[in-house]
Amino acid sequence: MNGSLILKNNNGLSFYQFPLLQSRPGLTHGIFTRHGGKSRGAYASLNLSFSVGDDWQTVAANRELVLKTLGIPGLQSLKQNHGKESVEIRDNRLGGFQPIPESRSGDILMTRLPEQGLMIKQADCQSIVLYDPAHQAVANVHCGWRGNVNNVIGEAVKRMRAAYQTNPARLLAGIGPSLGPCCAQFINYRTEIPARYWTYQIRPHYFDLWRLSRDQLIAAGVLEDHIQIAGICTSCQTRDFFSYRKEKITGRFATVIALR
Ligand SMILES: [Zn+2]
Repeated sequence: MNGSLILKNNNGLSFYQFPLLQSRPGLTHGIFTRHGGKSRGAYASLNLSFSVGDDWQTVAANRELVLKTLGIPGLQSLKQNHGKESVEIRDNRLGGFQPIPESRSGDILMTRLPEQGLMIKQADCQSIVLYDPAHQAVANVHCGWRGNVNNVIGEAVKRMRAAYQTNPARLLAGIGPSLGPCCAQFINYRTEIPARYWTYQIRPHYFDLWRLSRDQLIAAGVLEDHIQIAGICTSCQTRDFFSYRKEKITGRFATVIALR
């Protein structure tokens, strides 16, 4: 499914929404740009990561801005490590909102609890949000090229099936702003990317990771017209998003999804 993202403004922050998910009453979500926060220099201004060298209190203030903008009390995030571990948020004892560096590791967040924002931090990697309207459950997946190689997407759908009896054919999925085929260059692809994915090479050394993620969703049972790709390349759009490839020392923007 194509169609451009919807840009919203609230509480001084601008964020995007997927049209596919935007009208769902049981759901809120936002893909935040780098604008409207309090960080300075390379982290200007809405850096949401504690682990990239930015000032701790400033990041905490930025995270509070995100919560106020979406109107939710809880924000859950992980120490992301390009693996395929999942963390299910079953109770809100760990949040509310705790402005401290993450203690839990993983790349998949999932929950059926309302009012708990699942946050993936990004600078070129994909966030893939998944919504099961039949069982009122959500997940947010951190997927860089290593995530594609590990099929973290298939793992997330498998976890939702096991925990919530999710039927993948009912899932709605959004693939957020991230490294596009224009900039996803892999000089060492022969050692980094398994040969079964070389069909995603669109010209020498450049890969279409958006299409790969879409195909991994489809392989997991998600319907093609239930998938929306933002189609925004972070490396081309550093005015609005952080890009590790383009900027090296930089912040992390975030995609947050929460049940109402
Ligand atoms: Zn690009």
